[in-house]
Amino acid sequence: QSKAKDKRILVIGLGRFGSSLALELVNHGWEVLGVDSSPRLVQTYADALTHTVIADATDEESLIQVGANQFHRAVVAIGTHLEESILTTSLLVDMGVPDIWAKAVSRRHGRILEQVGAHHVVLPEHDMGERVAHLVSGRMLDYVEMEEGFSLGKTRAPKELIGRPLRETGVRQKYGITVVSVKRLDTEFTYATEETVLHKGDVIVVAGRTGDVERFAEVN
Ligand code: ADP
Repeated sequence: QSKAKDKRILVIGLGRFGSSLALELVNHGWEVLGVDSSPRLVQTYADALTHTVIADATDEESLIQVGANQFHRAVVAIGTHLEESILTTSLLVDMGVPDIWAKAVSRRHGRILEQVGAHHVVLPEHDMGERVAHLVSGRMLDYVEMEEGFSLGKTRAPKELIGRPLRETGVRQKYGITVVSVKRLDTEFTYATEETVLHKGDVIVVAGRTGDVERFAEVN
């Protein structure tokens, strides 16, 4: 079976993060095996997930018994128990699971997970904290850093961009950002072109270097 079509995934740890992730994947048609050492949590998600098992993921025998080595993808969603998170990740690496995602609670934790061989490390609390900091302190309606130094920001169209085609506003030269989408009142987002004329109250999504996106959001 090709990797793209393999919609089976092992989710270890059914805390707040793991359970949300597992339920969302089920909604998207994935077959999810959820594992947690807590009988109470496993019971809670037994009906909603495809399969659930009570097991200690730091125990190699138990991991083999749940068939962890048969999965192409696994998520280690154990956060607060660092030792358990690291040990579980390293066991999955040893078993040769080819696509391991691991949740970290800090950059240092993330670095260790990468060193033991996790293929992707996510820092949900850390990333969300940074994102909310941008929303609270600035004028952005939404904000995502796509990778270090490159972001998308959602903001209201500033006065100086209103009433003429984007091409004529020189916004890219002046602010270093590109307007990628526009949403007019009561409509859906649509892509922006050089000919797009913004109106008062339009919401736009802009892309660019993080600092430029931040500066642009202050223009309003
Ligand atoms: P969250 O912040 O997402 O709730 P937690 O770190 O609090 O994350 O929860 C992680 C989950 O992982 C808990 O439900 C816990 O029972 C489970 N867990 C911790 N250690 C193990 C382990 N060795 N094997 C299986 N599950 C574990």
